[in-house]
Amino acid sequence: MAFAAACGGTEEATTAGTSVPASSIPAATSTEPPTDSEPSAETSPVVTEPVDPLSTEASAPVVVEAPTSATFALVDARVIDGTGAEPLDDAVVVVRDGVITEVGLEADVVLDEGIERIGLGGATVLPGFINAHVHEVYDTDLLRTFAEGGVTTVCDLNRPGDIGIEEIFAAREAVQGPGTARLVAAGKFVTVEGGYPDAFFGDAVLVVDDVESVQRLVGELADLGAGLIKTSFESGALFRQTGWPVMDDEMASALVEAAHARSLPVIAHVTGPADLERAIDAGVDGIAHMIAQPMSGELVARVVESGTFVVPTLELNHHADQIAGWNDSPIVLENLRLLHAAGATIVLGTDFDGIPGYDVAFDVGMPVREIDLMSHAGMSPMEIIVAATSNAATACNVETVTGTVEVGKAADLVVVDGDPLTDLGTLADPRFVLRDGAVTGAAGRDR
Ligand SMILES: [Zn+2]
Repeated sequence: MAFAAACGGTEEATTAGTSVPASSIPAATSTEPPTDSEPSAETSPVVTEPVDPLSTEASAPVVVEAPTSATFALVDARVIDGTGAEPLDDAVVVVRDGVITEVGLEADVVLDEGIERIGLGGATVLPGFINAHVHEVYDTDLLRTFAEGGVTTVCDLNRPGDIGIEEIFAAREAVQGPGTARLVAAGKFVTVEGGYPDAFFGDAVLVVDDVESVQRLVGELADLGAGLIKTSFESGALFRQTGWPVMDDEMASALVEAAHARSLPVIAHVTGPADLERAIDAGVDGIAHMIAQPMSGELVARVVESGTFVVPTLELNHHADQIAGWNDSPIVLENLRLLHAAGATIVLGTDFDGIPGYDVAFDVGMPVREIDLMSHAGMSPMEIIVAATSNAATACNVETVTGTVEVGKAADLVVVDGDPLTDLGTLADPRFVLRDGAVTGAAGRDR
């Protein structure tokens, strides 16, 4: 199966088009001191083995310019901070113990004597990307591969299978470690008996049947550490079916109220116009897919006015069209174009799904196909970056932790050569990626 071949247990960065042996990547847990502690040093080069033994330049050493200590300054940087603000050239980002402590112009920031300085030569620093809709990522190697590709946070919106929520949230803690992407989790779908995804996949869901059961279940999820609540308003249209059960209005409103009382956003699987109306009526914070039928101008306006964020999952529709012979991609691209033009909040998410037997490979790490499809729907590079960083952080309830290059945020950073605002392709090949200030990988590559 293509997916298993791409990421099952491998430690190679598979998304950047370049295979980087893990052995050449400085471990995030390295306790080695900086190789050069001279105060005047611009960088701390690390010489490693050649990346590609078949290369004609195999004898050339590789110079890595990535941080090697807990406190360092990225200098000569171009910063795109993820808020949508104009880039900052000739900038400095200071990191202390995994947290961004200063961001500003080189002329304005006074660096401590002796601080490790990483000269970026004008390379671009962005927030670590966030994939706000994934599944089946409870795997340390897989989370590491996401991080190495520049995605430092992923949000799992349902773990399928006959597994209890206590076990799910225990596993979420266990699989995270140095160099992995941060894993935010909803646990499982909260919906009614026989509702989607049970209706289609026969998969276990967290069943509610009245307001009291809704309130109890949301409380349990919050106590276990859910980052958000996932629900479903799917009457069946996406799957060419009708009449699948969904929560009534009273339960749906109670779900949103109970979640908000615990400071948890609610994201709903929605793919049809009528179900979208119902989700907006209930007050959900966002929807986990794009509507796969033509949207009226009134419905587009309702999404914008209600502030409901939209995670288009265009890659899912692309793959579903290939597998099922559907032709939804032109519709979802047009709906994204309409929503974006009207000012809706767009969040990047792909519906990455590693379910065995699903013989297509979602992008692992940087979601290059999703980014390309968003671009085709009329989103500018800056708008796509915002969708994948600050907007996604809010959607995933981690906006106080990550998603922007700002003081106080975790040093989850992607450094790319060139300018992603003129060439989104630069995002596919990071120079290095930091999670909480530690190098996750992709360093060690011959530039
Ligand atoms: Zn999904």
